[in-house]
Amino acid sequence: MAKLLIIGAGGVGNVATQKCAAMGVFSSITLASRTLSKCDEIAERCKSRHGVTVKTAKVDADNVPELVKLIKTTESDIVLNLALPYQDLTIMDACLEAGVHYIDTANYEPQDEAKFEYKWQWAYRERFEKAGLTALLGCGFDPGVTNIYCAHMGKHAFDTIRNVDIVDCNGGSHGKAFATNFNPEINIREITANGRYWEDGTWRTTKPLSVSQTFDFPGVGERKMFLLYHEELESLCQNIKGLKRIRFWMTFGETYLKYLDVLQTVGMTRIDPVKVGDVEVVPIKLLKEILPEPSSLAKNYTGKTCIGCVVEGEKDGKFKRQFIYNVCDHAECYTETEGQGISYTTGVPAALTAKLLAEGVWKKPGVHNIETLNPDPFLAEIGQWGLPWQIVDLEHSVA
Ligand code: NDP
Repeated sequence: MAKLLIIGAGGVGNVATQKCAAMGVFSSITLASRTLSKCDEIAERCKSRHGVTVKTAKVDADNVPELVKLIKTTESDIVLNLALPYQDLTIMDACLEAGVHYIDTANYEPQDEAKFEYKWQWAYRERFEKAGLTALLGCGFDPGVTNIYCAHMGKHAFDTIRNVDIVDCNGGSHGKAFATNFNPEINIREITANGRYWEDGTWRTTKPLSVSQTFDFPGVGERKMFLLYHEELESLCQNIKGLKRIRFWMTFGETYLKYLDVLQTVGMTRIDPVKVGDVEVVPIKLLKEILPEPSSLAKNYTGKTCIGCVVEGEKDGKFKRQFIYNVCDHAECYTETEGQGISYTTGVPAALTAKLLAEGVWKKPGVHNIETLNPDPFLAEIGQWGLPWQIVDLEHSVA
């Protein structure tokens, strides 16, 4: 049985650690993060809800020697990185040095530039392959489950996929005027960047939040969604053969956008340092400190999320359009894990990925985006761990 080290005790870490504890496939689980008390709180939940002891530790995931020491002292076989995208490369370096497998849910971003790309992590391919180690990238919901949905549609439902629209709706309400559902810094950097989609072999750029339309989300209803760039587009456009276009859409409420506009206009979303007296302050980091912690939103969250892929293409010479998706209820997530729906939809697939790697089902030396793996074992189990999926025919395309 494998020993698992989870790094990051935020909203996603809370859900994933509890799910890993419930899975019964790890001989030991250690949860490490910057703030030890947050790890202890989650470990307590694992004990009281699942009767499983989770060890805890304090670690600075920006520090490779500290990480290597922790991996070695805990004798871990797999590291599940649920800290921030800034820590991806240091954790991958530590995994290589200590000789263990690696999983994450978000691709690397430099702190000083709002730019997320796989090139930094894909550069580790040869080193992981030579070491006989597996690194699985983007194993949350989107990226993650959405990649697996595409793999499933390509394998079982379509002969050729032509168009994919990934649609992400949080139809829930947390009762706060303004808050983000996952790390505010990462979230705001993503939304305020230019939109981008891939068509006919090239990338097309749009101004931030300038392209929108309404979509009828099962379980939620009609919502306005906006075209964004999202990291899974980069690997999916390479891995789906015959693809013509792939886009990503996310819903936002009017109030959220109004607050975001004001924060941007006054400069609170800037990522460069500003002098305040003798100290340098990065406005978006200050904003993160004063906004509610995403995990604190869970208690009063109501409503549902709906995330999925609208896929168009051909089957047996005929045009076909289908929607593969999951609907998740915030309040049910809270009852089960004390987490909210966004943390839950990310933490469950991350935990299942760790299980499949531990069982050897998804062991494949190198660095991989998960649409290149067999989707069947993942989709056979994900429903049982809390994220059931379904496929429906769609009458209308995403315009
Ligand atoms: P949180 O901010 O709630 O949690 C991040 C955790 O990482 C915190 O506990 C934080 O510590 C810890 N951390 C940050 N820096 C360090 C460091 N240098 N050393 C050790 N620990 C550190 O974020 P979420 O849980 O919401 O998100 C976790 C990850 O999941 C992010 O990378 C996010 O981008 C990704 N994500 C992916 C999604 C997907 O579908 N693929 C969707 C949503 C999120 P502290 O508590 O002390 O601040």
